[in-house]
Amino acid sequence: MKSNHAYKYILVAILIVMLPMVLSAPKAMDAKHMQRHENDTKIVVLNYHKIDEMNIALSVYPKDFDEQMAYLKEEGYSTISPKEMIDNLENGVPLPEKPVIITFDDGYLDNYTNAYPILKKYGFTATIFVITDFIGTDPRFMNWDQVRELSKEGFTIGSHTMQHKSLTDLKEKDIRAELIGSNKALESQLGKKAEFFAYPTGTYNLRIAQIVKECGYKAAFTIKYGNVDQASNIYALERVPIFHTEQTFNNFCQRLQYTPLLERLGWIKI
Ligand SMILES: [Zn+2]
Repeated sequence: MKSNHAYKYILVAILIVMLPMVLSAPKAMDAKHMQRHENDTKIVVLNYHKIDEMNIALSVYPKDFDEQMAYLKEEGYSTISPKEMIDNLENGVPLPEKPVIITFDDGYLDNYTNAYPILKKYGFTATIFVITDFIGTDPRFMNWDQVRELSKEGFTIGSHTMQHKSLTDLKEKDIRAELIGSNKALESQLGKKAEFFAYPTGTYNLRIAQIVKECGYKAAFTIKYGNVDQASNIYALERVPIFHTEQTFNNFCQRLQYTPLLERLGWIKI
């Protein structure tokens, strides 16, 4: 009988010791789960095309671009790469307090001659989506030496296809050829695969987004207006386009701050 009692005491003692562990286990899981949902970082992805003196919407004057970069610096923004953005969204890797990704579409020569020195002045890097068939063949665009230099300086070079055709106009085999062919060219010229993609003319659908994923890209950017956050589709990421307007700087500041109404109301992103 005595030994029976002893077993009971031991059993109770074990239960008392284990109780906090049993109770805390689900809490720890909850905390981890909550953390992912509480990651409310908003990442601003700016979208530029040309930085030159042309008086068209797609060209931002170099002096205006300089003013915008100075403003970002003063306001405490830090440029991050798309890879850092994905690491944050998928694995919760922390980001600086005000993260911004500066993207350029098409890979115009002025990205190298005009934008690059200004970015360098403020210690910023950028992401450039290039059209691989235009590189080294059309003087309006950067050549491979320039693209390679930017890549070595920490810029992310992404694919913007081989020929800049709207993917919604193409057959599936041609979409795949554009996605794979541009990446092969980038890999052979830069020594590494392109991990990120931007849809030419911004046109896409969910089937095309799936093909982009199947072709090995880690994320894709649209021209859908908004900020990137936990609710974003990784293969249809939002951006904030910056244009030349009558009030370029004011519009830049507004676009940097503006949260679309539908997003505030809980609009589900696709
Ligand atoms: Zn483009």
